[in-house]
Amino acid sequence: MLELAVLGSGSSGNSALVRLGETTVLIDAGLSARQLCVRMQSLGVEPDDLTAIVLTHEHGDHTCGIDVFCRKREIPIYATTHTCAIVREQVKSKVKWHHFEAGADFRINDIHIESFSVPHDAVDPVGFVFRCDHSRLGVLSDVGHVTRLIVDRLQGVDTLFTEANYDEVMLQNDTHRPWSTKQRISNRHGHLSNDQTADLVSQIASERLTRVVLGHLSSDCNTSDLATSVISRKLEELGHHGIDVVCAQRKDPLPLRPVAKKPPEAPAAKSDTPEQPTSYVEEKAAKSARVCEPSAAETRPAAKPRSNDSDEWSQMEWAF
Ligand SMILES: [Zn+2]
Ligand SMILES: [Zn+2]
Repeated sequence: MLELAVLGSGSSGNSALVRLGETTVLIDAGLSARQLCVRMQSLGVEPDDLTAIVLTHEHGDHTCGIDVFCRKREIPIYATTHTCAIVREQVKSKVKWHHFEAGADFRINDIHIESFSVPHDAVDPVGFVFRCDHSRLGVLSDVGHVTRLIVDRLQGVDTLFTEANYDEVMLQNDTHRPWSTKQRISNRHGHLSNDQTADLVSQIASERLTRVVLGHLSSDCNTSDLATSVISRKLEELGHHGIDVVCAQRKDPLPLRPVAKKPPEAPAAKSDTPEQPTSYVEEKAAKSARVCEPSAAETRPAAKPRSNDSDEWSQMEWAF
């Protein structure tokens, strides 16, 4: 069964793990290399044993640890062609790049990965559904608004890992950010508010949905209690009881947990019923990457210098 762990999540850095048996995939690498290693090891995962890294998009809070982390280990990185091109410019270490087009499906060992486009101010941002046998994990981060495509692709997931970035009232009342920054956060290519995330979750909730993991919370325009209560309340109002809603934290990892509550049912004794064909499209993983220019839309601070391996966990709010 697929397992999910979140190494850390917030506007200052994001990284998570998906594991299936011997296959371990890192989703984004937006923590320092040191923190990536420390947090993986705290979960019993050796960094050298990673199978691959997949990227949602190129923003620094999702990619800043790649260069140093990959200096010491050859780990293939999967990203869309455009994302790959931008991140590749920032990474000096030798990396085997695999690029795919947004919307394509590919496979890393026995994990099938579906990608889909999302609206965000990055060059080619995507969300993912990881699937294996009967378990499905949806991953959605950095999304300005919920599209029909997103709702469609996340149907039937057992666990949803999604951003719940800000509380609308707290953002409006915030006195530290200029109006333009508030606009960027809340516009249709910014981030999801708690209410937007609650609406999304209510649209994809099914009997299968057992867990919702909230991430990318703003440090000062949201709280874990608030985000959790908004999403939980919405689910309860709609009659979806017993769904576990938790918040990923900035400084502490969430441990590996199975993405589905129940193990797959044992197949019935041999019968006349033919086996259902799988519906996914397999393996469109591509082989190389090319270099592109950075996105002009990117207005966040430049990534921290990566001159050595001792870069510490940063409290910088990349997304704000
Ligand atoms: Zn972003
Ligand atoms: Zn982000």
